[in-house]
Amino acid sequence: MDKYLVFGNPIKQSRSPNIHRAFADSTNQLIEYDRQLSQVDQFENDVKAFFAQGGKGANVTAPFKEQALLLSDKLTDRAKLAEAVNTLSYIDGKIYGDNTDGIGLVQDLLRHNVVLKSSNILILGAGGAAKGVILPILEQEPVRVVIANRTVSKAEKICHQFDSFSDKKLHACGFDNLQDGRFDIIINATSASLSGQFPAIPSSNITDSTVCYDMVYGATLTPFLQWAEQQGAAKVIDGLGMLVGQAAESFNIWRKVNPDVESVLKTLRAEMSTAL
Ligand code: NDP
Repeated sequence: MDKYLVFGNPIKQSRSPNIHRAFADSTNQLIEYDRQLSQVDQFENDVKAFFAQGGKGANVTAPFKEQALLLSDKLTDRAKLAEAVNTLSYIDGKIYGDNTDGIGLVQDLLRHNVVLKSSNILILGAGGAAKGVILPILEQEPVRVVIANRTVSKAEKICHQFDSFSDKKLHACGFDNLQDGRFDIIINATSASLSGQFPAIPSSNITDSTVCYDMVYGATLTPFLQWAEQQGAAKVIDGLGMLVGQAAESFNIWRKVNPDVESVLKTLRAEMSTAL
């Protein structure tokens, strides 16, 4: 049976094994998928040992995505640009690194019938998650993408990195410089929700046609999505679909089969609400 793992620290909370086992059941694929706790100074050895013992692929979550990039023999363009790898495949003695987070987000938005083409998009945050979604978002041909971050220099750095792909559509600023903006889509890619906070953006950024997305998810609406709803946003969406979507893309890379995202998402959502 082909073996897969997710590496992270902490890793107990990871839902990836449940998601991939559900994908495997629904597509009749015989696989084993487990979680493995690793350490920064052990990660590379752990990955190599797993592949040496016959492992076929692995997902990588915080804090190892940059290390996974460095140990990959070959990288996709989207992984190179994101400077992070969340999907490793082992083929003929070589480690292939990819990043499926961005496509997971875009597919989740499309599944909610959110139109990205020609839209005016605000991304809050300039960490690894924000960087990972820029290329897949640009590929959807938005009219403008503004990256706003608490530390403005990090947003500027991303704009610079994506300069040759962005056709001058990408802009960087701080939250204070958003006074005059109105956006079709606002994506919260900060980790503020994890500490019960949300980025201090002007309420005028949200209109009754704005879709607000938070990469963080939980049994209840995140603080950002609660606030966005109060400001009259057209739709609020959390990041559970992005999680399942990135997993589906990894599964497809490994097994060459497209699993059904919707049914797994429904099960996870139900499990989360009964755990309340
Ligand atoms: P990083 O640590 O790389 O970046 C964190 C970002 O959040 C930075 O831009 C930081 O700003 C900003 N930030 C943190 N706290 C605050 C605050 N109180 N107010 C305003 N900005 C704040 O994290 P990642 O980019 O890797 O992840 C971001 C979030 O996305 C995480 O919560 C993660 O769980 C989630 N995520 C969800 C995924 C999914 O599948 N649903 C996939 C990947 C990530 P500054 O630069 O100024 O410090």
